[in-house]
Amino acid sequence: MTENKIKYPFLDLGRVNEPFLPAIRRAVERVLADGRYIGGNEVEAFERELAAFTGTRHAVGTSNGLDAIRLILRAYMEMGRLKAGDEVIVPSNTFIASVLPVTDCGLTPRFAEPDPSTHNLDPEAVEAAIGPRTRAIITVHLYGRISYSERLAETAKKHGLLLIEDSAQAIGAISAVAGPGGSRRAGALGDAAAFSFYPTKNTGALGDAGAVTTDDDELARTVRMLRNYGSEHSYHHEMSGLNCRLDSIQAAILREKLPMTDAENAARRATAAVYGSEIQNSHVILPADTGSDCVWHQYVVRVADRDGFRRFLLDRGVETSVHYPVPPHRQPCYKDYAGLALPVADRLASEVVSLPIAPRCTGTDDAREIAAIINSYRPQ
Ligand SMILES: *Cc1c(COP(=O)(O)O)cnc(C)c1O
Repeated sequence: MTENKIKYPFLDLGRVNEPFLPAIRRAVERVLADGRYIGGNEVEAFERELAAFTGTRHAVGTSNGLDAIRLILRAYMEMGRLKAGDEVIVPSNTFIASVLPVTDCGLTPRFAEPDPSTHNLDPEAVEAAIGPRTRAIITVHLYGRISYSERLAETAKKHGLLLIEDSAQAIGAISAVAGPGGSRRAGALGDAAAFSFYPTKNTGALGDAGAVTTDDDELARTVRMLRNYGSEHSYHHEMSGLNCRLDSIQAAILREKLPMTDAENAARRATAAVYGSEIQNSHVILPADTGSDCVWHQYVVRVADRDGFRRFLLDRGVETSVHYPVPPHRQPCYKDYAGLALPVADRLASEVVSLPIAPRCTGTDDAREIAAIINSYRPQ
């Protein structure tokens, strides 16, 4: 298959960022004029604006989303809430970056299976996974859908577990139930949350960037220190920290893009609505449509013959992707966990296909045409 036959590219970041280019240039000019390249006004302003957006007391800019999760876990260890060897429940079908910080911190991942209709943690599977050493849950708002529920919050509370949101894919998603601080946005639902602003995320920087959000003053202060060599005052180090700071240029760019998050998510929702109403093919299982709790980072369908389906679409100019073809417990880096029986994750990994959905790459007319192509698919 040749590239030039692609009529519907999966993702074209040039097109995604097109309307932001003048604002991005202004943002970079601000940093050049200011002369502060790490930290400073732009980072502090972005942190205030992100906290206001999510409805949390604190936001702390970080180098990326993986480091945001790592900083949360390290901070809880510094605070005595977690210790090496403790178990952290993670979804069995998530992106590897939800799990790598767990093992990096010397904690033990305990995989719980998702509900295949939402792709998010099944609260019953979470209950079943809790053992005497379990201390935290990392719940992932996978593909942009909120994974928080009253049931999950009650389970965490009943067992005294920290509830950490991996919000990397869900900026702007609104929960049907309020979090403890009263906000309903992703990032304000658990004890702490991690965001990623990797360029392909719904609100993307022009490089690596991330953030931690929380209502917990001590956690925010500890994360701030850990991201900056464990220091609050220059050359005085309270803890053995890291360098996980957010660049000023990325913060300045994100300050321009953050206010457009809801509009960008609305465009994704409009495309998802067309897929949801127009795709009618008994061989293609659609994702649940649960309303404003999903910001459609990915629009993921399930097809038994996934490879044949993808080839059929590509032959007709539709580029697709797979998130994710290999679950964490099947990765060579986690061969210790290869023996686990996680049939839901295995099955999803073999069936999931992501359709194009990014703003300006796939509009509602494109979605209609793609749906018509999908409706003509028959397994060979
Ligand atoms: C992107 C992503 C991360 C990691 O973010 P980076 O900024 O790429 O480090 C973590 N978890 C999930 C679910 C993600 O999609």
